[in-house]
Amino acid sequence: MDPLKHIAIIGLGAMGAPMALHLSRSGYEVTGVDLDPGARDRFPGAVTPQQADFSGVDAVVTMLPEGPQVMDVYQGAILSNAYSGAVLIDCSTIDLETARTLNKLAVEKGFAQIDAPVSGGPEAAGAGELSFMVGGDADHVSLARPLLENLGKKTTHFGAAGSGQAAKACHNMICGITAMAVFEGFALADALQLDADQFYELCAGAAAQSWTLENRCPIPGVVPAAPSSNGYAPGFAARLMAKDLRLAQAAAQISGQVTPFGAEAARAFTRFAEATGGDLDFSSYFTALKQQTKTIGTD
Ligand code: NAD
Repeated sequence: MDPLKHIAIIGLGAMGAPMALHLSRSGYEVTGVDLDPGARDRFPGAVTPQQADFSGVDAVVTMLPEGPQVMDVYQGAILSNAYSGAVLIDCSTIDLETARTLNKLAVEKGFAQIDAPVSGGPEAAGAGELSFMVGGDADHVSLARPLLENLGKKTTHFGAAGSGQAAKACHNMICGITAMAVFEGFALADALQLDADQFYELCAGAAAQSWTLENRCPIPGVVPAAPSSNGYAPGFAARLMAKDLRLAQAAAQISGQVTPFGAEAARAFTRFAEATGGDLDFSSYFTALKQQTKTIGTD
């Protein structure tokens, strides 16, 4: 039985709304909060940050786009209005420095606070099948664990505050670099006139196998459930992939670690997202690669 009963979720976007609905279906009392009226329509009874009353809330979950928005709601609402025994759980994917600062500010005020970014998209969020990468004090993680276990199938506590965001940055850098490799491999295979289905079957059963290959094969029609077979509808938007790769570069910068492929993937997805708006799935990067094909056989 989870002693946390009344949960506020701030940010009812692609991820926060299905998380709120899942918790509500699981028997929690849930208050949904969002700035945007369209997002508030996704959760019954949702309120604006100004209307929200956090005084009777046991846990406040934030699921917001980036660090500045999370800092705004912590400083503008949560730290001054929530009851000091509440557990604060930031599930947004944000930069390491902001994650550490949020924790310091919250702990100084007597709150339990953890960073708990997720792997898994909106469907996993609605089905309670997310994976959480967690950073924070072990006692604070224990308080949040039953709630995280309701929302997810796996919770890994990496260590001190910020280490959940650190794990997320490293994980997503691997995904971004792997994506570049898969998309370039298929672009070259296509240019060499290999049969796409045969090439996919080869890779899926050999050393080139990966999550990106199986879930984001970039050639339409090869994997029916992949975004490429549905007009590259997301999935995971290219602008979010670009953001996550930039967060990994910020983490590389503060740790002093050199990550040349990560840097190149961050540059490539950022350029692509800026040129296209980045709303399509990140596998649409393949279409830009194909447009760059060089003219051959001439000087
Ligand atoms: P989203 O843009 O769909 O939703 C964010 C919501 O936050 C919006 O409804 C917006 O109105 C609201 N918001 C922004 N500022 C606010 C404020 N100050 N007060 C209240 N509400 C505010 O984003 P999302 O896809 O739900 O992603 C949320 C986080 O989860 C991001 O950090 C993202 O990188 C991460 N994430 C997303 C996915 C995915 O597949 N979408 C997967 C894993 C992790």
